[in-house]
Amino acid sequence: MGEYIKQVLDDLRQRNPHENEFLEAVAEVFSALDPVIDSDPKYRRNAVLERMSEPDRTISFRVVWQDDEGKPHVNRGWRVQFNGAIGPYKGGLRFSEHVSLGTLKFLGFEQTFKNALTGLPMGGGKGGSDFNPIGKSDSEIMRFCQAFMTELYRHIGPDTDVPAGDIGVSAKEIGYLYGQYRRLTGAFQNGVLTGKDLSFGGSLLRPEATGYGAVAYLQEVLKHENDTLAGKRIAVSGYGNAAWGVIKKAASLGAVPVTLSGRDGYIYDLDGITTEEKINSLLEIRADRNRSVRMYAERFHVPWFPDERPWGRVKADIWMPCATQNEVSAEDAQRIVDAGGRYYLEVANMPAEPDALHILQKNGLICAPGKAVNAGGVAVSGLEMSQNALRLSWTAEEVETRLNTIMHNIYRDSVDAAERYGFGYDLIKGANIAGFLKVAEAMIKQGLI
Ligand code: GLU
Repeated sequence: MGEYIKQVLDDLRQRNPHENEFLEAVAEVFSALDPVIDSDPKYRRNAVLERMSEPDRTISFRVVWQDDEGKPHVNRGWRVQFNGAIGPYKGGLRFSEHVSLGTLKFLGFEQTFKNALTGLPMGGGKGGSDFNPIGKSDSEIMRFCQAFMTELYRHIGPDTDVPAGDIGVSAKEIGYLYGQYRRLTGAFQNGVLTGKDLSFGGSLLRPEATGYGAVAYLQEVLKHENDTLAGKRIAVSGYGNAAWGVIKKAASLGAVPVTLSGRDGYIYDLDGITTEEKINSLLEIRADRNRSVRMYAERFHVPWFPDERPWGRVKADIWMPCATQNEVSAEDAQRIVDAGGRYYLEVANMPAEPDALHILQKNGLICAPGKAVNAGGVAVSGLEMSQNALRLSWTAEEVETRLNTIMHNIYRDSVDAAERYGFGYDLIKGANIAGFLKVAEAMIKQGLI
């Protein structure tokens, strides 16, 4: 890494000493940029890196809600509006006890590049709360969402900031959030949130989009290797929206997803998670108050491994982490290398610790980053915004055709960018450079703000 970028990262570390996830995410993107920065003095002259690594603004608020016994609870809510150069802030809301401002800064930073890669006019943002939805009743979730929106509504809007779901926030929560937004503003502006139910302006295929997009990207990678998906064993982690969509699409194309995981362990289904009943059971696990993947093991009589994740512990051709950040350690990466398999595609945002990624790449696995592979989710959110603005709805086929084109372009732009700046076939560096170029151009053209 060149001196200038090192200096920018050092300054950033001084200003954010406790935000490791955020610092790692910035370092990962900036480590691809030496040849870009050297190619044109405009990047330094306009302080693009310095500005890009500081959020436009962060909003923090108190959320007070009552449980079913009438006891009050206080949580913290945030919205990080990271970069608005190419469009309204756009990105999910995460409800989990692990959420902190540092996590949301990391995710908002990643979102900026991901959204740019889609080619749609969306800036980057992320929000959420340290509220843990697991074990809560439906009415508790509703009251929490109403309290959360009572603070958030003044900061968002169809042309300013458009939140969506993420971990702990699915169509049900989006419904409660939208209901409260509508009550507070007195206007039917459904373009303010995406991931809505179809009954009030949601897009067909939005639930499937992250997983379907990831499989579309995977097929581009396989094509490059003269390989095909049929019969490939895929190790998946997580059990939520992303994992479900990957499994549904991959199974329909003849691949064999074999694992699922949650916070308490993983299941290994040697026959494959391929039948409709098995795939639909993921929806039931997610709707259950306690959300344990163990339910799958009990129902389908497959082995359950408590407190472990599948990395390198099963036989797989393709590894696809779909759960959350930092779930693949260096040890896991070594185990994956030993277990064989050629492909490692991140569907979660930065699921690998930095050392882990280097081990996988060094040992010849083809690796692709979350910000490219999982961009189909936010891409279809962008299509949902377009449909809301036009007051029409596209068919599932129309949405899927657009999604596939977007994923194809993300892959192609990444390959081209890495090639052009001397990195060869490197999907990680390529995605970071391609996303950077789009945001940087808009920032420079809009002057020093
Ligand atoms: N949370 C998802 C993501 O990380 C979706 C965001 C959105 O649709 O705005 O991209």
